[in-house]
Amino acid sequence: ILHRQEGRESNARSYPRRIPLVLTGARGIYVQDSAGQLYVDCLAGAGTLALGHNHPAVIAALREALDSGAPLHTLDLPTRIKDAFVETLFASLPAGLQKSRVQFCGPSGSDAVEAALKLVRTATGRKAVVGFSGAYHGMTAGALSLMGNLAVRMPLGGAMGDAHMMPYPYDFRCPFGIGGEQAVDAHLQLLEQVLNDPESGVPAPAAVLLEVVQGEGGVIPAPIRWLQGVRRLTQAAGVPLVIDEIQTGVGRTGTFFAFEQAGIEPDVLVLSKAIGGGLPMAVMICREELDRWAPGAHAGTFRGNQLAMAAGVTTIGHVRDQALHRHAAAMGERLAGHLRAVQADFPAIGDVRGRGLMIGVEIVEEPAPRLHSGPNRVPPPADGVLARAIQRACLEHGLIVETGGRHGAVLRFLCPLIVTPEEIDEIAERFRGAVRSACA
Ligand code: PMP
Repeated sequence: ILHRQEGRESNARSYPRRIPLVLTGARGIYVQDSAGQLYVDCLAGAGTLALGHNHPAVIAALREALDSGAPLHTLDLPTRIKDAFVETLFASLPAGLQKSRVQFCGPSGSDAVEAALKLVRTATGRKAVVGFSGAYHGMTAGALSLMGNLAVRMPLGGAMGDAHMMPYPYDFRCPFGIGGEQAVDAHLQLLEQVLNDPESGVPAPAAVLLEVVQGEGGVIPAPIRWLQGVRRLTQAAGVPLVIDEIQTGVGRTGTFFAFEQAGIEPDVLVLSKAIGGGLPMAVMICREELDRWAPGAHAGTFRGNQLAMAAGVTTIGHVRDQALHRHAAAMGERLAGHLRAVQADFPAIGDVRGRGLMIGVEIVEEPAPRLHSGPNRVPPPADGVLARAIQRACLEHGLIVETGGRHGAVLRFLCPLIVTPEEIDEIAERFRGAVRSACA
């Protein structure tokens, strides 16, 4: 089957090439291939499947929606399911965003990013948007303009919006040869010059757009003090802060939204992936005062997928009612502990980092110096070739992990939030076996 399917797919396809499986079944954290082999799915739709595959409550909600006779497609006309979704979504937003407005975008996360970019440009009358190295906001033109992966963005230049890229704090590969608090100060000083330097004559940007934990960029959690500094500087300069929680939202990082850990709130929030319970869904939420669009200024046929709303209400409700964000924090700590134990035995593992169940393992060519190991240290070269070999060995050990980051040298663990402690131990065992065979 695989041969037949592969022969017809574009060479631009990515997942099927590196994870050459034909999937026939799935439940919880497991998927099964056509040969009957079970794999632990630590990709889980790049973090989409908060409740895992085929969660009984999600399936029941979908059945109920189908059996109810309610319309399946309404563009964005109100329905009971939509009402329940908006209610559930707002019940999860922090106090400061209760007066915000929601724009259904869909079907994919990139659409919500496009809406946010268009909105901040309309609302401020300014053009440039500040983004960060390593960022990933999607593959549509506006989102690509803020793509931190230069190998992807540079050849496409000119076709996209006006963007200004700044360095994102990344201690393990700090561009200043410093780390920790010193690096945070340096990053904030640079940003302040761009946001608010009346002497320079540089006009203020339309927005700053960031991920609290970069996902595709290699699972890089932003330092809390940097996030607080960015919030303070953007507020002082009257520049809207857009936070992309497409991958981090709905409990993944240990809080419902990752920005809560810094005690900050965005002016615009983009969400997708887990909010649709595994079905296509994306929304943009903005403060009331930014909602300066004329009616109909933003449209799209597949906004507000009714089934995705039904699955989303159940997923968001489950995460909240069962405090799965707290469970994710505990399970993430357990997994990170195991991964650090593997790191202690294999010098190819340079760094283990993350928040909650969003964990990255960075593979290096040489043993890595410890974090904050002093000024002017040279970061060890990333090893994407070995990372891919470990990814392949993981598959042989029944574990699906995706790569990301510079040179694809970061292995990313994004398992469903419903994972049990025993399953965490199993993931770590499979990973240890894979690293042992790839590094032998
Ligand atoms: N933003 C972030 C942070 C993402 O991780 C992604 C997808 N990986 C996107 C935006 C784009 O979402 P989509 O692929 O659904 O367009």
